[in-house]
Amino acid sequence: MTGRQLGQLARIPVTELKRVTARKAAGLEQMGISTVLDLITCYPRRHVDRTNEAAIADLAEGETGVVTAAVVSGGSRRLRNGRAMAEIVVRDHSGTLTCTFFNQAWRARQFAPGEVVTVFGRLTYYRGRRQMANPGIDPVGDETRRFVPVYPQSERARVSSAELARYIDEALERAKEFAEPLGDELRGRLGLVSRTEALRWIHAPETPHDYDRARRRLVFDELLRLQVLLVWRRRRAIEASNGIAHEVNGALLSQFLSRLPFDLTGSQARAMAEIRHDLSLSHPMNRLLQGDVGAGKTVVALATLLVGVEGGYQGAFMVPTEVLAEQHYLSARELLAGLSVSSAGHLGEERPLLVDLLTNKTSGAERTRILTELAAGELDVVIGTHALISEGVDFARLGVVVVDEQHRFGVEQRASLREKASLDPDLLVMTATPIPRTAAMTVYGDLDHTTLDELPAGRSPITTRWLAGEGREATAWKRVGDEVAAGHQAFVVCPLVGLGGGEDEAPGDPDEAPDDPDEALALDEDGEIEPALLERAAFSERRPPRDAVSMRDVLATGPLEGLRIGLLHGQMPAKEKEPVMSSFRSGEIDVLVATTVVEVGVDVSNATVMVIVDADRFGMAQLHQLRGRVGRGTLRSWCFLLTADDVTDTSRRRLEALVRTQNGFELAEEDLSLRGGGTVLGARQKGKTDLKLADLTRDRDLVLEARRVAGEILDADRELDGIYLPMRYEVERLMTEEERAFLFRS
Ligand code: ADP
Ligand code: MG
Repeated sequence: MTGRQLGQLARIPVTELKRVTARKAAGLEQMGISTVLDLITCYPRRHVDRTNEAAIADLAEGETGVVTAAVVSGGSRRLRNGRAMAEIVVRDHSGTLTCTFFNQAWRARQFAPGEVVTVFGRLTYYRGRRQMANPGIDPVGDETRRFVPVYPQSERARVSSAELARYIDEALERAKEFAEPLGDELRGRLGLVSRTEALRWIHAPETPHDYDRARRRLVFDELLRLQVLLVWRRRRAIEASNGIAHEVNGALLSQFLSRLPFDLTGSQARAMAEIRHDLSLSHPMNRLLQGDVGAGKTVVALATLLVGVEGGYQGAFMVPTEVLAEQHYLSARELLAGLSVSSAGHLGEERPLLVDLLTNKTSGAERTRILTELAAGELDVVIGTHALISEGVDFARLGVVVVDEQHRFGVEQRASLREKASLDPDLLVMTATPIPRTAAMTVYGDLDHTTLDELPAGRSPITTRWLAGEGREATAWKRVGDEVAAGHQAFVVCPLVGLGGGEDEAPGDPDEAPDDPDEALALDEDGEIEPALLERAAFSERRPPRDAVSMRDVLATGPLEGLRIGLLHGQMPAKEKEPVMSSFRSGEIDVLVATTVVEVGVDVSNATVMVIVDADRFGMAQLHQLRGRVGRGTLRSWCFLLTADDVTDTSRRRLEALVRTQNGFELAEEDLSLRGGGTVLGARQKGKTDLKLADLTRDRDLVLEARRVAGEILDADRELDGIYLPMRYEVERLMTEEERAFLFRS
């Protein structure tokens, strides 16, 4: 094997490069680039095509063209109609051109005077001056190449695209040849260019065709690494011998099912059959239960835990938020009431089945009692948040784990709950966001899959309406009033809490937010927008999103005057949240004004209206989840999506899709094609998977191909210590500590 291994480059700091100074290295570090590998896998966002470049003075009025010029100045001002306009003036040897941008004030500071840029747009004259409105503008530095790479830039890190290009050039020059982990035969069969060519062409292609071939190769590498890991993980789990074969006759389960006020749907019953089969095997279950909102996953989760409990094991149910944990706890207590289990050591004696709730809010004495009972094996089922995997929580006989994931727990967190047990417990992961097949294969490729593709009978469809412009909001408030008058209830969900910024305990780093201000509204653990990111949202100069606190006041003194209105958000202490939730459940509150804390799990079948304020501020999956809070019974329900008059194109397509269909899978497909794989993967998982180029919609065929090849590779070389040893070194970087230790133990 000749040539550089990627792993080698991961051990060389960028400071080894001659062109990288200590000061620039610090800037690169801020951009997450510390090694030569990070550098060469920092891919261009796009390339500027300078093939048909013109001089400024040669462009005729109305003509579209590309010019290269130096920045003279940047500035911004407010127009009489209140809109902000930014201007960048550029000059080449032939003349001057003014670039104008509306509602993009940040443009004024995008480039320093003297910086060389290319500008692409349509030339017009305004008061005798040459002008382009909203042109494409990219930094090119002193490049002479035909296709100039444009790298992500960070203003704070002070590393320009041109500088990155020079560092990457040096790194590639010095690396020379890259090792080929695929082998020539496999590579030839797959029709992929060599890694050496791919890494050169992705940065500096000579033709668009080169770029495409380079991208295809690198995307395949990303997907293959991931699939090798997932297939390996899956096979290893099957081989693991310390699982539990739950051999029970199902008496407890039958008892539970016979007490339910309904029969299982066909797909719930099929899911249970698959799960029971998995549980009876001696290797641990690793199964993903997908089901649209309202498909009835909770019942399946509880039934799964009971199979373990009947055999004398404990069950744990881990969910992402406090509100959801409480909600599940309440329904579990109700559904499990009256069930009994045989008490250990006393043949024939029975005691009531015990279930408890453990979150970070569980108080000292209560917590101590629960921990003691868990460790003594006295508690049968525990429901909770991350608190379940914290230090000091020990189980006597943990047998079955259910994780309601909502994309918020990573593989490591799932694994750490498993480590709380001496035997490998069986694991069921649930997700309410339907995931398209290729995405599921990528994110959950180490799991078996079950889908609840059927809603319980008797559900009425939800009427969804998008109301654009404040003038149309009255329609929503009238419906809320009518429904409350008919004895029903409503939700009003806002994107923000509204207690002012800065009081969130864990504000996000705005620099981590994507460049596109539309994507900058990252969510915290309770699904609320992090205040620190609002500044960036304000950047986009749209109207700031409305908040729950002021919305409650506005509604109480305006359109919903006289109704009983409650307020719920993630920054309220648990002891304030709980009474609000229980008054809403019991019908003492008519309208619950809330943030997305109600997104998951809130189950009030009397609620028939969901009003989502500033709906364009939410992602597709979230909107679908929120809508799923109504229509849970047989009552006819409504969902109103409120937005300003104009929304971005992406938002429009998203909202139109929601109006068109209630099918979660269709929405997920639409979302995937609108936003790419990142949404499905979530920030955490994306980091772990190192998918930088792959796009799960566009590269669907490669996902399938990579899955197949991964199987082939592991068939040929089970432990990756033979001909595919180089592959082991690549995959290793994606593994958890524990997996690495296992793989390298021999
Ligand atoms: P999910 O978690 O999948 O969104 P839930 O488990 O919360 O859905 O169930 C939604 C509602 O449907 C709950 O009120 C639940 O009691 C009810 N439900 C679950 N299964 C059935 C069924 N087979 N028939 C009728 N209602 C059901
Ligand atoms: Mg649920």
